[in-house]
Amino acid sequence: MDILDEKKIGKDKLKALELAEDSRETEWKMPSFVAELFQGRVRWDLIMPFPAQSEEDKKIGDQLLDQVERALKKHLDPNEVDRTGEMPQAAIQALADLKLFAMKIPKEYGGLGLSQTNYNRVCHLVASYCASTAVWLSAHQSIGVPQPLILYGTEEQKKKYCPQFAKGAISAFALTEPDVGSDPAKMKTTAVPDADGKHFTLNGLKLWCTNGTVADIMVVMAQTPPKIVKGRERQQITAFIVEKNMPGVEVVHRCRFMGLNGIQNGLLKFSNVKVPRENIILGEGKGLKLALTTLNTGRLTMPASVTGASKYCLKAVRQWANERHQWGSAIGKHEAVASKIATITATIFAMDAVSWMTSAMADNKRYDIRLEAAMAKLCCTEASWKIVDGAIQIRGGRGYETADSLKARGEKAYPFERIMRDSRINTIIEGTSQIMRLFIAREAMDSHVRKIMPIMSPKTKMGERFALMAKAFGFYALWYPKQFIGLDALPSGVAIPRELRGHMQYVSKTSRRLARNLFHAMMVYQQKLEAKQLIMSRLVNVGTDLFAIASSCSYAISQSADKGAVELADLFCRQARGRIHRQFSRLWKNDDAQACRVADNALNDKYAWLEDGIIFTED
Ligand SMILES: Cc1cc2nc3c(=O)[nH]c(=O)nc-3n(C[C@H](O)[C@H](O)[C@H](O)COP(=O)(O)OP(=O)(O)OC[C@H]3O[C@@H](n4cnc5c(N)ncnc54)[C@H](O)[C@@H]3O)c2cc1C
Repeated sequence: MDILDEKKIGKDKLKALELAEDSRETEWKMPSFVAELFQGRVRWDLIMPFPAQSEEDKKIGDQLLDQVERALKKHLDPNEVDRTGEMPQAAIQALADLKLFAMKIPKEYGGLGLSQTNYNRVCHLVASYCASTAVWLSAHQSIGVPQPLILYGTEEQKKKYCPQFAKGAISAFALTEPDVGSDPAKMKTTAVPDADGKHFTLNGLKLWCTNGTVADIMVVMAQTPPKIVKGRERQQITAFIVEKNMPGVEVVHRCRFMGLNGIQNGLLKFSNVKVPRENIILGEGKGLKLALTTLNTGRLTMPASVTGASKYCLKAVRQWANERHQWGSAIGKHEAVASKIATITATIFAMDAVSWMTSAMADNKRYDIRLEAAMAKLCCTEASWKIVDGAIQIRGGRGYETADSLKARGEKAYPFERIMRDSRINTIIEGTSQIMRLFIAREAMDSHVRKIMPIMSPKTKMGERFALMAKAFGFYALWYPKQFIGLDALPSGVAIPRELRGHMQYVSKTSRRLARNLFHAMMVYQQKLEAKQLIMSRLVNVGTDLFAIASSCSYAISQSADKGAVELADLFCRQARGRIHRQFSRLWKNDDAQACRVADNALNDKYAWLEDGIIFTED
């Protein structure tokens, strides 16, 4: 990022980009299917055969799932949680008794030591029943203290905190502030080292901290004193383990939302909280890196959870579409409804494929999953929102009615109204869809950035620049033609059903089209590409759908023939290819410039007259 010019992009943006760059994992030590895809290469060997869960691991998961289901049905009514905004103490105790607050804590520290797949299976099950409960569990261990502790905690930290989770202690993750959403560079919470260097004094406000109002232990991100790197001051964000009982920790407000009424989410204040230096996780200035690497696996809970909730919608919609007769037949027989049901079914099949593929990759530990996890989060949360919307449409007026009201009238109380309210947040938390696309785009371009950016940097000396240019030329002289004339090789030794062959060849062919368009975009826009979000989003959308197509084909091939998985994959692939076609058709010829101009004018009040005749309140 040495080439970014503060005068051109502004001080704040430079600061944000520098911090993001400093926090990136720079190395690609392990292979990534998606990173290769953006390079025009399809490594089928990385995703085929579909990585099935071992029988032994599955058995562990099956037993736990059975216990969780029984405990939930006994102690928790999701509609009551929604109505009262409180989680029954008996339910929390039941979850703690099953050690669900220590699912990912290794057995040696008293936890269940579950694989990522089994942990995600639990979240998938819980989310299909009660989203608030799923968030209690996932905020605690996908982003809260357990995950960073397992990955980067010192032995002392693990010994001190892990057993507490096994006894039901709850944790939270505090990054967001009133002025800090997607852009952590604006962080105001500070942690200043004391003169003796043994403690840091923490001051600041943290917003929307899930579990924050009840958490015993939390990870808090704070600015520690800046460091000079290559002659320039660089912000340092550090992750601290903070205990609720430390003097100066205060819950100022419990936040309430459109949905997820049972979660305990708060505005927290830290006033001169003395945090011991040994409570730093990973190291001073490494807080954002910690958050990013933690989220690589932490993020996988979200796809599994939304897939669980989507499956509830499918089951309820199927029942309803068979039961409800209008205009002489079951509504599911009318083409307009049938096509919705088909799309929901095929999409859920693909969500399953992506969720379990990425979970298995995380368990395998021989993949770099940063791109796959971000794509899984992006595509599953966006798909699930459309599924909920489609399901409500199929339910008609009853989709809009609350479960309590339906029940009071003696009807089946499918809680679509609550599911919709609970679901809306999923494309916002743990990285908004827009930020996910920016993250994926940056990582997708990484190999080009490494080769090309040093050539453009004013700091590169002339002799060095020529050497770099020669090296890059040597690479691209071979790489570029391959993006036009490569082979669409299919994996050998795999029996590929006829219906899927074309889709798999399409993945190969289109990955090359994607790679060359990504390269063209870099060449055309160079430093300005960072601001060309719409072009980059289209390329990311293409890559994401290609990953979903590839995962779905692999998943379908792994299923027994009688299940109809091939026809589900086939329909999903056809629909995804339609989306990809639309993205490419608008890649270079589009109305982006006009849209940005209208947005500018709108923000500058030019069309304020459109808002005449309304009542507008802000209080
Ligand atoms: C129910 C709930 C639970 C939460 N739990 C936690 C938690 O446990 N811990 C925690 O730390 N935080 C939590 N959050 C905060 C959540 O992670 C943030 O809401 C999220 O990161 C987005 O930040 P923001 O809302 O401030 O939006 P902003 O960052 O202000 O963004 C607003 C809009 O602008 C877009 N945008 C922003 N920057 C860009 C850009 N560069 N390019 C394109 N588009 C951009 C965003 O995509 C979004 O659409 C929670 C929030 C909610 C509502």
